[in-house]
Amino acid sequence: MTIHLPDDPARSDVLAAHPTLWVNSAYRPGAIEDETLPIRPEMVDEAQANWKRLAPLLETCFPELEATGGAIRSDLVELQALREVLGYAAPEFGRVFIKADSALPVAGSIKARGGVYEVFLFAEQLARKEGLLNPGDDIRRLAEADAKAFFSRYTIAVGSTGNLGLSVGIAARALGFKATVHMSSDAKAWKVERLTKLGVEVVQHEADYTIAVENARIVAERDPTIYFVDDEQSQHLFLGYSVAAYELAEQLKARGIVVDADHPLFLYLPCGIGGAPGGATYGAKKVFGNHVHCFFVEPVQSPCALVHLMSGSQELVSVYDVGLTNKTEADGMAVARMSAFVATVMRNMLAGVFTVADEDLLRWLLLAHETQDIRLEPSATASLAGPQFLVKHPQGRAFCENQGIQSYLTQATHIAWTTGGSFVPQEQFDAFLKQAAAL
Ligand SMILES: *Cc1c(COP(=O)(O)O)cnc(C)c1O
Repeated sequence: MTIHLPDDPARSDVLAAHPTLWVNSAYRPGAIEDETLPIRPEMVDEAQANWKRLAPLLETCFPELEATGGAIRSDLVELQALREVLGYAAPEFGRVFIKADSALPVAGSIKARGGVYEVFLFAEQLARKEGLLNPGDDIRRLAEADAKAFFSRYTIAVGSTGNLGLSVGIAARALGFKATVHMSSDAKAWKVERLTKLGVEVVQHEADYTIAVENARIVAERDPTIYFVDDEQSQHLFLGYSVAAYELAEQLKARGIVVDADHPLFLYLPCGIGGAPGGATYGAKKVFGNHVHCFFVEPVQSPCALVHLMSGSQELVSVYDVGLTNKTEADGMAVARMSAFVATVMRNMLAGVFTVADEDLLRWLLLAHETQDIRLEPSATASLAGPQFLVKHPQGRAFCENQGIQSYLTQATHIAWTTGGSFVPQEQFDAFLKQAAAL
C-alpha cells in the first residue's frame, strides 16, 4: 500500500526523514470527555486501586520495593547541568525535568508500569477464579510455594522489541509462571540473554515487531493455558501506565509547582506502539485536564503514530506505506505500525509528534551521562528534544499561539519522560558512549 500524506507543514520533513514537529490539527485539549472512546476516565482510578491492592504481593516478590511499600515509582529530576548543554538555559524554557522511568525498579523501563501490572492482575484474577485466593485472604499468599506450583501450569506470552518482554518475563517468573517472549529482529542481545537466564523461552523472529506480535497471538489462541499480553490491544497495559500521572501530580505538588491556565505543563513521551505514552497521556489528561499538552516522540525512520494520525485514515497506516524503513538504534521505538486502540484514543487527545535522528539520541545519551550521571538507553533520550521543538520550532510557536499560552512559557513546566536505561549492562553502555564520542 502506498499512502499520500495530506498537505501539512511537516510533511516534506517526515518523508525525507528529517527531524520535525507535527502539530495535530484534530487536537482538542478536553478530548478525554468524549464518550465514544473505548475507555473512561474512571478506569484510571480503578487501575490505581488495583495497584494498591497488589502492592503487598509486589513487595514480597521484589525486595527492592520495600522502601515504597510495593509501589513501582520513579523520581522527578530537574535538569541542571544537562539543561545548559542541551541549550535550555534561557528563561523562555521555563522549568525542565525528567521523569526518570529509566531507573524504575523491577524492569528498568517504563514497561514496569504496564507489563508487571498486567501479569500480576492476571495472576490475582486466575487465583480468585480457581479458588486459590478467597475473599479476605492476604494477597501475599500468591507468593507461596503452592501458588507458584499452580501458576507453573500456565504460560504468559508476549511479543516485544525488548523491554516489554523483559518486564513481562520478570513478573511472570517471579510468580512461577512459564513465560515465552517473541522478540523482533531489533531486540538487543543483552535483553535476550537476561530473559534466558530467568528461565524465559525466547523466540527470535527474523521480522519486525508487528510480525513478532502476530506470531505470538496465533500460538496463544490455540492453547487455553497461554495468557497473551497483547501490546496492540491491551487495556490493562494502557491503564497500568496511566496511573503514573497521579505519581507525577504528587511530585509536582511537593515542589510547589502549579499546573493551571497560566502555568502549562508539557509532556514529551517516546512512542513505539503507543501504549506506554498513550497511557501516560490519558492519565495526565484525567489529572491535569486542559492544562497539560502531550507530545509523542519517534525516530525519523519509525514515526508510526505521526504518519498514521497525520494521514487521518481510519485504516492503520504504517511507516513502510510512506517509504520509510523502520531502521533505528532506538529499539524501544522500532515499531512500524501503531496500536489501533491507542490511535483511536489519541486521535483528538494528542497535541503532536516530533521526530529525532539516531545520531542525536547517542549525543544526548552521552550528555546525560556526563552532566548528571543519568543512564539512558537511546529510546529514552528522545524526549529531551521536546522543549526545543515546542519553544523554537515554527510549528511549536504556532501551537503555543493557537492555544493562547505563548506569553506563559516562562512559567511553564516541561517533562521529558526518560523511558529506559538502568538495566543496560555496562559493556553495552560503554559501547553507546564510544559510538557517541565518535560522532
Ligand atoms: C516500550 C518503550 C517505549 C515506547 O512504548 P510503547 O508502548 O511501545 O509505545 C519507549 N521507550 C522505551 C525505552 C521503551 O521500552
